[in-house]
Amino acid sequence: MRIDSTDNLITRLKSKEFSNIFITTHHKPDGDAMGSTLGLWHILKNMGFNTTVITPTDYSDNLSWLPGNDGVIDFTINPEKVKHLIKDSDLIFCLDFNKLSRINELGDLVSQSNTPTVLIDHHQDPDEFYNYAYWNNESSSTCELVYEFGLKAFGKDVFTVDAVNCLYTGLMTDTGNFQYVNTKPQTLRIGADLIELGAQHTLIHERIYDVFSISRSRLFGYCLYEKLEVLEDCRTALIYLNAEELERFNVVTGDTEGIVNFGLGLKDIVLSVLIIDRTERVKMSFRSKGSFAVNKYAEKYFSGGGHINAAGGASEEPLEAVVAKFKSTIKEYKEELQSV
Ligand code: 5GP
Ligand code: MN
Repeated sequence: MRIDSTDNLITRLKSKEFSNIFITTHHKPDGDAMGSTLGLWHILKNMGFNTTVITPTDYSDNLSWLPGNDGVIDFTINPEKVKHLIKDSDLIFCLDFNKLSRINELGDLVSQSNTPTVLIDHHQDPDEFYNYAYWNNESSSTCELVYEFGLKAFGKDVFTVDAVNCLYTGLMTDTGNFQYVNTKPQTLRIGADLIELGAQHTLIHERIYDVFSISRSRLFGYCLYEKLEVLEDCRTALIYLNAEELERFNVVTGDTEGIVNFGLGLKDIVLSVLIIDRTERVKMSFRSKGSFAVNKYAEKYFSGGGHINAAGGASEEPLEAVVAKFKSTIKEYKEELQSV
């Protein structure tokens, strides 16, 4: 399904009705979130707009090479500056999320502001907090949508090498290197366009995946050797980590990304879950194969959501209680998981 209500927005952008543009994305932004916001930042900057990217929190260090990263403002570090920026903005772009709760306190600032808001996103069932939307839940990534939107608004010349390097990053990370079912013909066509426009795909791959600390590798080894559990009846793999373990392996933002994929590599496993005690709350990552809709499960039991095969959730309960709740509720899906 697609929503495109941007024709009038594009006319207004072309007639330079806006001067200060605020771009934001979700809590703990990933490759698609940072790639799309910075990709759009380059596009708008190339068109002469005064634009700033604001994140609700910090993000993984393997995204800090993205061109334009030095100008990004983290709301948790500089809330007063962000409040001024939002007040002075005449357009707000919300990228790669479908509910204002995904941007923490920034959500209240966006909803209280009278500034027109544009949603560019690919998550199911977006809340209607926007004035304009370029949305498609069949797109692989928000980067794919930013490419389409930029092309429609300004044509190919607006895409510099910096812009396409940002956009290629989100295509690559949100598709698991063009492996997941969200990899459609259009994704590969856009990937090809981006490479034609100068995206340095091998360099991007190295900068995203070959830059981790030895303690992160040891954490991965520990998860596989000591923590991986299989719930055979439910064709489910589970890993959970407590706060002491995170400290032992010096875990920093981004270090746990990828752990949830290990479980899905096991024969006959169709659901993989990672549960982490982040102290302020317990965070969960779900990945599935085929027809098992993890977003529905995450929404029902852990106030979460996401995509059919990749979703997340959270809980205020202690880690042990969350693990127990997961183990008991997942049993309700035993037959469904058996038949995937
Ligand atoms: P991850 O497991 O990589 O954190 O997230 C996987 C997918 O689930 C992403 O598409 C992300 O947008 C979504 N997601 C993760 N956590 C949450 C959450 O707490 N709520 C909602 N609605 N979606 C989430
Ligand atoms: Mn995304």
